[in-house]
Amino acid sequence: MPELPEVETTRRGLAPHLIDRRVTAAVLRRPDLRWPIAPEIAHELPGQRLTAVTRRAKYLLVEAQTGSALLHLGMSGSLRVLPAATPAGLHDHVDLALDSGRVLRFNDPRRFGCLLWQPVGTVHPLLADLGPEPLGPDFDGDHLWRRSRGRSAPVKAFLMDQSIVVGVGNIYAAEALFRAGIHPRRAAGRVSRARYAALADAVRTILAHAIARGGTTLRDFIAPDGAPGYFEQELFVYGRAGERCKVCGTALRAGDFGQRATVWCPHCQR
Ligand SMILES: [Zn+2]
Repeated sequence: MPELPEVETTRRGLAPHLIDRRVTAAVLRRPDLRWPIAPEIAHELPGQRLTAVTRRAKYLLVEAQTGSALLHLGMSGSLRVLPAATPAGLHDHVDLALDSGRVLRFNDPRRFGCLLWQPVGTVHPLLADLGPEPLGPDFDGDHLWRRSRGRSAPVKAFLMDQSIVVGVGNIYAAEALFRAGIHPRRAAGRVSRARYAALADAVRTILAHAIARGGTTLRDFIAPDGAPGYFEQELFVYGRAGERCKVCGTALRAGDFGQRATVWCPHCQR
């Protein structure tokens, strides 16, 4: 599943090809993805000039004059910019044709992605209740500390709650908690302010690193499955159940809680 770093890398790859281009046509090869494709994509967007490509959580916003195409890549979606004559494949569901002679093509074999519309001056309901961006100015240890008081949920589930902070998926939560030395099952309300400062730093460091990696590995604007921003050998705990901790040599433990599998070091994480 594309995670925040892959979505951000996709945004950076797409932006130079879309900004200041006019959409000449929208080709919908099916009426729906996860949800029906917004009618504005076909009826309102063509003819408009694209002004920006932004990201909120794992949503991409291709901004035009009267609104934004709101995209989510779901489990298996990808976006590419291709010459207009490139034949469409089986899962190439949508093309936005551009006045550059290219198309922005949305491929999504499993169709958990979406293509919606956000009129200018409004916030789409999917974006309305999201927490701050982990790389933005509103996210820090104090934010986590304030929001966690009185909460008995495991800190890992708390960190993955999109109303607390967006875009910290399973892999990044597990790695950040290891880096901060916090046991993933510890009650969120019982983590100190100082340890939340370390956790917020770890989240930012790990995501920024993955985005930097993505910037060097992404090909053809395809956001692949998994976590391509990260090399397997850089992971300390994720996917390493039963192996030795790289720091202390203790056997890593694994468990399911908060409905997600997680791995931790019983010595390094308290
Ligand atoms: Zn350890």
